[in-house]
Amino acid sequence: MSELRELYQQVILDHNKAPRNYGRLADANRHQEGFNPLCGDHVHVYLHVDGETIRDVSFEGVGCAISRASASLMTAAVKGQTVAAAQELFARFHAMLMSGPDAPVDEEALGKMAVFAGVREFPMRVKCATLAWHTVRAALDGTAEPVSTD
Ligand code: ZN
Repeated sequence: MSELRELYQQVILDHNKAPRNYGRLADANRHQEGFNPLCGDHVHVYLHVDGETIRDVSFEGVGCAISRASASLMTAAVKGQTVAAAQELFARFHAMLMSGPDAPVDEEALGKMAVFAGVREFPMRVKCATLAWHTVRAALDGTAEPVSTD
């Protein structure tokens, strides 16, 4: 776990300073907005979905380092994936965050998202870590209303 913890610090700092896929996507055909009122995080997620494939994805928004790093990692994780694979990754990520702080983490299945295991010790921050994922899921589902983690 201590190795994950160290990685967590690095990944959060790195993605917060240099977020991947940041900005509005010019050829987006899906968009959704998400809010986490508890922390003040606000994110827009843009997708270009072609059939069952997520060809491109981006985000923009304001919020804490955890929400920004999670959004950045989310875009990197789902880009080029099928919609079903993205949904499955979110389900795994969500299940991991809802597990106890000492529950084992499947680093192979989660990839870099596994570093968020440390967030389990701070239940308030779980919503920061999942905001972009709830938002991308709503965009894929075509939900009309913006997402709120409340
Ligand atoms: Zn936050």
